[in-house]
Amino acid sequence: MSFATRFAPSPTGPLHLGHAFSALLAHDMAGAAGGRFLLRIEDIDHSRARPKWETQIYDDLAWLGLSWPTPVMRQSDRQPAYDAALDELWARGLLFPCTCTRADIAAATAAPQEGAPLLGPDGVIYPGTCRARHTGPRPRDVALRLNMGRAARDGEFAETGAVPGAVRFTASDLIDGVGDVVLARRGMGTSYHLAVVLDDAAQGITHVVRGTDLAEATRIHVLLQQLLGLPTPVYHHHRLIRDDAGRRLAKRDDARALSKYRAEGATPADIRRRVGLDDGLA
Ligand code: GLU
Repeated sequence: MSFATRFAPSPTGPLHLGHAFSALLAHDMAGAAGGRFLLRIEDIDHSRARPKWETQIYDDLAWLGLSWPTPVMRQSDRQPAYDAALDELWARGLLFPCTCTRADIAAATAAPQEGAPLLGPDGVIYPGTCRARHTGPRPRDVALRLNMGRAARDGEFAETGAVPGAVRFTASDLIDGVGDVVLARRGMGTSYHLAVVLDDAAQGITHVVRGTDLAEATRIHVLLQQLLGLPTPVYHHHRLIRDDAGRRLAKRDDARALSKYRAEGATPADIRRRVGLDDGLA
């Protein structure tokens, strides 16, 4: 299969140097492999996504010298695909509705004899309060969690990665170290994990290029691919771009916004140099 990768920003703030690195690296890898570089707008969080940020994403990426096929996939157009997958997982008894608040989860995991609550890729590992609540048709407008014990039963999963090599994990790594992750958020109709897996498959992505901050989440994605009969791409998790104090850049970190560098007269070559892409440091 020919190489296809993507850059999948959420239009919830300005792109910064870290995004530029990720997008340039993916674009370079696609170019070197004679493959395709696709763009996807991850706008499932309606409360935070803004058209002005989407416009700014196109503008910044074009300024960097990137090009991509249109029309661009937007997650807000993909609800039917997310619903179909949720219906299938619900019918297989792998989901349950969850009405716990953050406070409920904190209270349920704060038993003094248990020590500090265990953390997984999505934060505190869900204590299982609502797990037995699977009845009738799939409810809407309530969070749906994956019953990880059932989903991961007897599985052994391999994630292939260009760097640093294949990572293996077992069903108990998923059950104890990840737990019952949310696959549909209340008021959103899906979640990052479900959407990203379905969209990568729909776009024919063979290589996922993204930061090491998402490496832990990859186990969830590989499991979902296996449950839904989808291919697992090669994962390349790249280093993170940090500020001078060594902190990872965040969306709110406007000081590192690409538009700010542009306004100050930086060129795309300056940005490449600033993120170490001219030194073979990818
Ligand atoms: N939309 C995610 C973000 O902006 C990236 C998801 C991914 O690359 O898998 O952090």
